[in-house]
Amino acid sequence: MSAGSLAALAAPLLDLLYPPSCAGCGGPVADSTARLCGRCLGALPWLGESGCRRCGSEFDTGGRCQLCGQLDDSLAYVRSALWFAGCVPELVHALKYARRREIAALMAELTITGGALRGLTKVTDLIVPVPLHWRRKIKRGFNQSESLAAELSGLTRIPLARGSVVRARATATQTRLNPEQRRSNVAGAFVCRDDERIQDKTILVVDDVMTTGATLGEVARSLVVAGAGRIFGWTFARA
Ligand SMILES: [Zn+2]
Ligand SMILES: [Zn+2]
Repeated sequence: MSAGSLAALAAPLLDLLYPPSCAGCGGPVADSTARLCGRCLGALPWLGESGCRRCGSEFDTGGRCQLCGQLDDSLAYVRSALWFAGCVPELVHALKYARRREIAALMAELTITGGALRGLTKVTDLIVPVPLHWRRKIKRGFNQSESLAAELSGLTRIPLARGSVVRARATATQTRLNPEQRRSNVAGAFVCRDDERIQDKTILVVDDVMTTGATLGEVARSLVVAGAGRIFGWTFARA
């Protein structure tokens, strides 16, 4: 019996032992290859295309972008696939804390099929993940942004520049900080150590979730200081 037919026999058995469930709600899925159920898939909170041209965010009543004023000048464009709503927080937590790395593949697929990076991938030379401080990476076992960046790189064939930017110092988690505190918390936290490879390149900086864009902005700035050309930012979700 070939390995292929063995695997075909084993898959239904595995489904019986570990019934596949939706990464969004834990409910049943159509088949073992589906990671989201039909209901979660149909209710995904896509960012849409009606917002700001630079960052995709929604305009306030005065017609101004709610996000752009806070974004670092070194970010040419910022894109996100989904709002941090519905089942999206579940997906983000499943990747980050339950270490379900297959979720990174789902996130990258949703981004490409949803069109969040349309236009940008054609002109991007390199993908750079937002780094974790080495101490946090050891604690967590992996960097979720790096997993995401690797999946995006696989789907788009854009090379991944792992380790180009490092965290020069550990920073407090941004979760409970206001916009001003977020900016000062990450100011100067990143250093680019790959000057040659990034020289004059168009780079896509990748992270899982963005709130004010302070972290993306700092990574972008470190790349520009080291000689990079244009910088785009991408996150799976936007809070
Ligand atoms: Zn579901
Ligand atoms: Zn904007």
